[in-house]
Amino acid sequence: MAMLDLARFPRLPLLTLPTPIEPLDGLARHLGEALNGVRIFVKRDDVAGIGLGGNKLRKLEYLLGAARAEGADTVVTVGAIQSNHARLTAAAAARAGLTCELFLTRSVPRQDPDYTANGNRLLDDLFGAQVRELPGDADSLAAAEARAAELRAQGRKVYVFPSGGSSPTGCLGYANAAAEILTQAEALGQDFAEIVTANGSAGTHAGLVAGLAAMGLDPRRAKSFAVLAEEGRARAEVLEKANATLALMGSDRRVAPDEITLDGRHRGSGYGIPTAGMLEAVRLMARTEGKLLDPVYSGKAFAGLLHDVRAGLYPAGAAVLFLMTGGTPGIFAYKDALAG
Ligand SMILES: *Cc1c(COP(=O)(O)O)cnc(C)c1O
Repeated sequence: MAMLDLARFPRLPLLTLPTPIEPLDGLARHLGEALNGVRIFVKRDDVAGIGLGGNKLRKLEYLLGAARAEGADTVVTVGAIQSNHARLTAAAAARAGLTCELFLTRSVPRQDPDYTANGNRLLDDLFGAQVRELPGDADSLAAAEARAAELRAQGRKVYVFPSGGSSPTGCLGYANAAAEILTQAEALGQDFAEIVTANGSAGTHAGLVAGLAAMGLDPRRAKSFAVLAEEGRARAEVLEKANATLALMGSDRRVAPDEITLDGRHRGSGYGIPTAGMLEAVRLMARTEGKLLDPVYSGKAFAGLLHDVRAGLYPAGAAVLFLMTGGTPGIFAYKDALAG
């Protein structure tokens, strides 16, 4: 197995690595035979680091590392009103001593105060970000770029992060996570059949794919459940971002469409809209493990994994690793759906 060498990419430490891998013993006790002999483990990217944690911190370590290396004084990014990426960018910028501006779109059809003012949106203000809200169909990245141009004209040094922080530089965080997982799997004596994650802006899955492929391993072992784009589009995004990340790492390897394992069937009727499977998954994890999935991403992905395990997709004895990607503040924005 080839080693990954990412040391030449500047990195600003924002979380304590490695994050723990834990078996879901409480869930296994509760579900018993329904698990068909499959052992589910979780990687706790939801609890480590600043700002209530989450998968965006791994990307932000490299994004802010690059921004700082280039002398940036301001970062600008985009997302939905309840964006975890926006909240963690605000937290990380505060930590790094940079000014942060957020362009947030009302892309989820909700106007109630839980959604518009609680959860992540409350934290954006608390972390000192300047927030601009835009209509759901607005081109927020164009607005962010226009603002960056305005600030640059005033002499500021501005770095713009794309949606979810999923540029090739951001994806390095999950290429690094793939190497971290392999080292932990070896120490645990576990051979994970799959590493499973939610997929929004595709960077988490793409980074895992790039990391596995660059190490000479099978990238099909990283699997995502799409919660934002529909399946075909999500697959194309993972492919494009994985190959751009491989190029950035200096690898000659490129992945093909049939090397991307992705399922779009648990997204429901749209991004940020609850599904019955998500509600079951969030409650089950809370009540058997005392751990928190989120209503927008990891809840839908874990619903997909539970479905597949119950349906017998994995052989008895297989171990599967689910990435707990965070999003905890989203729970407070979905009070009405989750209450009861
Ligand atoms: C952003 C996010 C994801 C998805 O990650 P992408 O890299 O955007 O695909 C999963 N879970 C949570 C909680 C997130 O905030």
